[in-house]
Amino acid sequence: MSPDETGPRKVRALRVSGYAFGPCTACGKETRALVMFDDYGWGVECLECKHVERVDEVEYVEGGEES
Ligand SMILES: [Zn+2]
Repeated sequence: MSPDETGPRKVRALRVSGYAFGPCTACGKETRALVMFDDYGWGVECLECKHVERVDEVEYVEGGEES
């Protein structure tokens, strides 16, 4: 799979906390958070290795608590 080759990059994120699902493409850890760039574009920043990448679309997920 190569997300860069398959059109718009989409990320699922929790609306409240900004936690972004899915592994970091640099270090593989699932510790990413939504960030907004100066031009109002969305991206995700890995809290582990500080790798930042842009995304084209954010799909918000409500809640996230299991119980
Ligand atoms: Zn990372």
